[in-house]
Amino acid sequence: MRCDILTLFPGMVSPVLDESILKRAQAKGLLNVRIINIRDFTFDKHRTADDYPYGGGAGMVLKAEPVLKAVDFIREEEDLRILLMSPQGKRYNQGMASELSREERRIVFICGHYEGIDERVKTYLSPEEISIGDYVLTGGELAALVIIDSVVRLIPGVLGDSTSVEDESFNQLLDYPHYTRPARLRGMDVPLVLVSGNHEVIRQWKRWQAVNNTFDKRPDLLDETALSEEDMKILKEIKEESEK
Ligand code: SAH
Repeated sequence: MRCDILTLFPGMVSPVLDESILKRAQAKGLLNVRIINIRDFTFDKHRTADDYPYGGGAGMVLKAEPVLKAVDFIREEEDLRILLMSPQGKRYNQGMASELSREERRIVFICGHYEGIDERVKTYLSPEEISIGDYVLTGGELAALVIIDSVVRLIPGVLGDSTSVEDESFNQLLDYPHYTRPARLRGMDVPLVLVSGNHEVIRQWKRWQAVNNTFDKRPDLLDETALSEEDMKILKEIKEESEK
């Protein structure tokens, strides 16, 4: 994954990129991120990147020209896919993460701040507007990081065990519960089946738990046409059980 984060607050993103899996992905060359300070593309004496809104109203608005200059600069070298972080955008989900993990172009994240960005950034660039959820953040930085984090972990080689992304939440179903040592904790035991050593029984238990979890917490995700025969059977049992 190659991407640029366009922001007025580089300090909001760099610490996150310097830890754990994101850090390792960069070391392995699987993630290339550049943090671009929008202020570096302001050329007036005071290096102004924001200004008062036309027509009045609260707060400040990020100026369009520095953002456009930054994009022009990056575009000189590479083909770009431009994503504008915005609460008004298409709601981000795992399907979009998976699609972005296959993107060949450099991805540019434009992070707004304050009241937002001069609308002409949108008019000029026609970016994809993406929202990470129905709430308003102070800036697009956290949204860009959420997207990068969720995309990078899908890139082969980033996580140690490639099977670990295959059966986790939103791959049709929510994940099954996980346990680690000790086997008994404050009177609570690990499900016996998990220490049975019987791989087939464990596999079935995990499937059952995943279907049950989804039915319980996010029934809206249960697209029965996409379920395997085994999962359908489990779902039928769970439904019958819940109707008793
Ligand atoms: N006045 C704007 C919100 C501005 S919030 C409105 O009501 O639509 C400031 C910046 O934070 C936005 O420009 C955007 O880049 C970012 N942001 C806020 N909420 C977001 C969300 N849910 N998803 C993605 N980006 C968001």
